[in-house]
Amino acid sequence: MDQLLTPLSAEDIARFGETPAIRFAQNLQLVQERIAAAALRSGRNWQDVRLLPVTKTVPAHILRYAFAAGITDFSENKLQEARDKRAKLEDLAINWSIIGHLQTNKVKYLTRFATEFHALDSIRLAEELNRRLESENKDLDVFVQVNTSGEISKYGLHPDDLLPFIERLPDYPRLKPRGLMTLALFSSDLDKVRPCFRLLRNLRDRAAQHHSGITKLSMGMSGDFEAAIEEGADIVRVGQAIFGPRPTADAFYWPGLTDTTQP
Ligand SMILES: *Cc1c(COP(=O)(O)O)cnc(C)c1O
Repeated sequence: MDQLLTPLSAEDIARFGETPAIRFAQNLQLVQERIAAAALRSGRNWQDVRLLPVTKTVPAHILRYAFAAGITDFSENKLQEARDKRAKLEDLAINWSIIGHLQTNKVKYLTRFATEFHALDSIRLAEELNRRLESENKDLDVFVQVNTSGEISKYGLHPDDLLPFIERLPDYPRLKPRGLMTLALFSSDLDKVRPCFRLLRNLRDRAAQHHSGITKLSMGMSGDFEAAIEEGADIVRVGQAIFGPRPTADAFYWPGLTDTTQP
């Protein structure tokens, strides 16, 4: 293996095994097969569903093994964590996406390196991003986050606020709206999760009439990506099914979340 890969500590081995690149490649393969099967079941092409690997909590030196396994799209919930890793992995050709809530005062750090943002949820943020992108002469692919579960712990626009929001997006030409994103209800009961996905799909169908860029659905995670695909997901954001369980409580990433039945 490449000498750029740092040796593994006992802690690394306990979490990722002796050969993380092989483990990640195998997990990736399994996830791809499950994506393909779910796509097939719903009469879709497997090539039409994009897998966005979620690298949060996986340390930078371990992500070198992920890169060695062929993973080049990394997505992170927290900007600071993404920045730290990016600084350590600058020599690798990685596409970075930010998929979590962003504070307006952090915008400049995002625009420096991220190519995609999946959690656009306010006009102030759109304004700040656009201003910053303008000064850097860059564009940014964005997904508008909608709160489809009604849980107060989730960020995202209220479904009723989506259309007026979409109509204002042309004021921010550096933002390239690609679609809608949601975090479904945290439940292992897929019958409760599916309505969130269906709601996002219906909202997308309506929003598309107001903005031609709003076409894709970013929805589905390790515990529910197959259901999401059956309900129309174009992008699934998958972490644990590739990198293994996270040691960090999910409440760190989704403040206010107390009860999680996700794997
Ligand atoms: C962590 C995270 C995911 C992936 O969750 P897994 O359970 O690791 O698959 C998806 N979307 C967002 C916004 C996340 O923060």
